[in-house]
Amino acid sequence: MGMGHFLPLAEFAKRLCTFDGFSITFIISKWMWGSQQPTLVQRLASSALDIHFTEIPDVTVDEDEQHMRGETILSKYVLKAKPHIQELLQSLHSSSPISAFITDFFCTDLLDVSARLNMPSYLFYPTSASFVCFMFHLPKLVSEIEVWFKEADFDVEIAGLPLISATDLPTAVQDRSNSAFYWFVHHASHFKEASGILINTFAELEEEAIKALSAAANPSIYPIGPLIFPVSDAPDESRCLEWLAEQPPSSVLFVSFGSLAVLSSDQITDLAIGLEASGHRFLWVLRAYKSGGSSSLENDISKLLPEGFEIRTRDRGLVLLNWAPQVRILSHPSTGGFLSHCGWNSTLESVWHGIPMIAWPQAAEQRMNKVILVKQIQGGIELRIESNGFVRREEVERAVRELMEGEEGSKARQKMKELKDKAKIALMEGGSTMKATADAATHLSHKPGLTP
Ligand code: UDP
Repeated sequence: MGMGHFLPLAEFAKRLCTFDGFSITFIISKWMWGSQQPTLVQRLASSALDIHFTEIPDVTVDEDEQHMRGETILSKYVLKAKPHIQELLQSLHSSSPISAFITDFFCTDLLDVSARLNMPSYLFYPTSASFVCFMFHLPKLVSEIEVWFKEADFDVEIAGLPLISATDLPTAVQDRSNSAFYWFVHHASHFKEASGILINTFAELEEEAIKALSAAANPSIYPIGPLIFPVSDAPDESRCLEWLAEQPPSSVLFVSFGSLAVLSSDQITDLAIGLEASGHRFLWVLRAYKSGGSSSLENDISKLLPEGFEIRTRDRGLVLLNWAPQVRILSHPSTGGFLSHCGWNSTLESVWHGIPMIAWPQAAEQRMNKVILVKQIQGGIELRIESNGFVRREEVERAVRELMEGEEGSKARQKMKELKDKAKIALMEGGSTMKATADAATHLSHKPGLTP
């Protein structure tokens, strides 16, 4: 899995291990691995926790599939890997009976494997409860509305969500002619086969969505978040932390688009010029492909930034390539704002550290996360994105100034501080997340009355 799915699942595994008698085995595939996954696996495998890893044999992705949308490639991959996973599960189960099988929501095709082995199955959602509401509603929605969402100019009503524009629904369902649309509907229609759904959210963050989901008797819902990678476990990146330490409190805007998104070279130019014109301090994690249609990442910053940019901004900006210790940066007292693609983990990490955001969604369900962030929890402000997906330099400058010095920014900061306090309470003894986690642990282990 990509880091956005793997990190919260790893955190959940660690939390389960605080309950007595849990032994957890991850079935992994190295197919989607980047530089970060091996480090995480090694850290967990060498910890004192009862966590193990077992790997399926390589499965190849056909060349004609490599150009398809990620959701399609992933779903097809799971189908191809299914016989190996079945074999592994069977063999693990016969050596030591498995009490529950947890799988990612892109793997609903594995639910019949666990059912055949009489194992209760749970779907793990690294994203929001609002997204789960959307998935519950999706089969009905696509049967009622026959137009393509990307061409629709109306709002959609989904129980548990504020009214949402059709174009803010996940990118996989925007285009009916794309196979990703089929796969999303396919996964959504298999949900009810799971015994429960584990969601990386907390009750106080998404009250309405959780209420709507709980109203449906089946499957059970467990809001077990926020699952945040602890700062103490994050790899140290001394250069950027040293730089942050030299900046005034709450003065730095952190700019990052997660572990997968890459910007075009024109967009990098306008983002750079907008940041420079704002006059604010920034720490920017830059990911871009090498020129010439390559899919490998560029490692030479000077090939990506406008001429003279680094020199002109050297007293107030730092640009890092490809990866930064995000939780460490968000937890640093010098960080005052986060310009983000609104990946759900990034959004939760910002909530956890009380940092207001500028929402610049790129793909997947990030537009929906933007709606939750801006409309529902009011912890961020929205960037105006042109119809061709471009954000102009003037708009970057406006949004950065608004977040860091304007009234809207100050309201969003206040909201995020309140949510930060609520998130901490949710994770304390007796808090909503701790109760949901104990409930999940009880059902996963079939042992009533477990306490951490
Ligand atoms: N992340 C990080 N450093 C980076 C980019 C990402 O530590 O430079 C972490 C980030 O803290 C988050 C996860 O990777 O936990 C990204 O997940 P998210 O859902 O925000 O976005 P995705 O990468 O899945 O689009």
